[in-house]
Amino acid sequence: MVAQVVLHKGRDKNIRARHPWVFSGAIEQVKGQPAAGETVEVRSTSGDLLGMGAWSPQSQIQVRLWAVGRADIKRNFFANRIKEALQLRIELGITTRNTAYRLINAESDGLPGVIVDRFGDWLVMQCLTTGAEFWKETLAELLSELIPCQGIYERSDVDIRNKEGLLPTTGLLTGERPPTFIDIEEEGRHYRVDVIHGHKTGFYLDQRDNRSALQAYAKDKTVLNCFSYTGGFSIAALKGGATKAINLDASQSALELAAQAGELNDFFSEQLTNIQGDAFQLLRDYRDEGRQFDIVVLDPPKFADNKAQLDKAARGYKDINLLGFRLLKPGGLLFTFSCSGLMEAGLFQKIVADAAVDAGVNAQLIRKLDQATDHPTRMAFPEGYYLKGLICRR
Ligand code: SAH
Repeated sequence: MVAQVVLHKGRDKNIRARHPWVFSGAIEQVKGQPAAGETVEVRSTSGDLLGMGAWSPQSQIQVRLWAVGRADIKRNFFANRIKEALQLRIELGITTRNTAYRLINAESDGLPGVIVDRFGDWLVMQCLTTGAEFWKETLAELLSELIPCQGIYERSDVDIRNKEGLLPTTGLLTGERPPTFIDIEEEGRHYRVDVIHGHKTGFYLDQRDNRSALQAYAKDKTVLNCFSYTGGFSIAALKGGATKAINLDASQSALELAAQAGELNDFFSEQLTNIQGDAFQLLRDYRDEGRQFDIVVLDPPKFADNKAQLDKAARGYKDINLLGFRLLKPGGLLFTFSCSGLMEAGLFQKIVADAAVDAGVNAQLIRKLDQATDHPTRMAFPEGYYLKGLICRR
């Protein structure tokens, strides 16, 4: 017998609107004794079957829905979800122009807690929830059948698993272990990715389209790329004809890969400079030295993990954006981003606008940017939308 999770009266609204999360407070009763990750039925007080999901007893989000209504949650169900996700990437044209892309984007591809990225001949998987963990071996098996690859490596070394009562874990799931460095091609740009130690699954695939946007504006420009990681935006800039790009990042290992990416793309070493340090301080130093650039990129890490951190995050964005505007030549472009899902697009734009005022700049908004198309957002799941960017002109 499949266990049943019965919701309080009136708490079925979100699920009926196809939101995939059931919070513990919405649950009236659990009939049966489901183990962590096992499939449960979600029912309204009056007994309507609303959906089938994975049970997560320790999390605030106690059920994540695999499907709305009745579904047979087994191998074939997951095979179909994987096929649908791949089909979208093919239709978007991503698979022909890129050897690295997000294949499965969790809730937004109907697989809560499951992230799968492709890097060349390897897949890298993250299981964030009990449901993903429960089906991990099945998913790995299906992926290796459906997607030709040499191996699947797990990078579930993320704190968010704590909330589900899961420990961080990494290692080979199937096939051969990937080499530490995998060279990928993204829209004609070459990058070196450390899938074993790099951030997330190794590379910020979500910025692909924004790197292409920068490339289109970069001819004959000088570029300061702050929070550069392995140099994603700088390589795009140089490909687009920039005369010089500077990467600033706190991580020395990321900058080493950035230097190697320069070589992979046959740029002259004097075109690309890598500087390790604290971007908040380096931006101030550059301001004090009176340095100016045609393009400044600001792509900081997530500043807010929860609502309590939003004010501090806002001050952080204001600070770097003010400095960013100051470092721009008149007519120069600021590419500024926020990957904090809790920071709403409207608020982010207001903070950047305030920063321009404080910098004494009458800036124009040229274009809005967001996460790449292989990171779709299920419309009933707005939480899936997190990356916002603005191109502003001084
Ligand atoms: N734009 C990059 C991704 C940036 S991720 C790309 O397209 O690939 C954010 C980066 O900020 C990480 O590389 C991290 O090492 C760096 N970082 C975090 N705090 C920093 C700080 N205080 N100063 C400089 N870099 C920092």
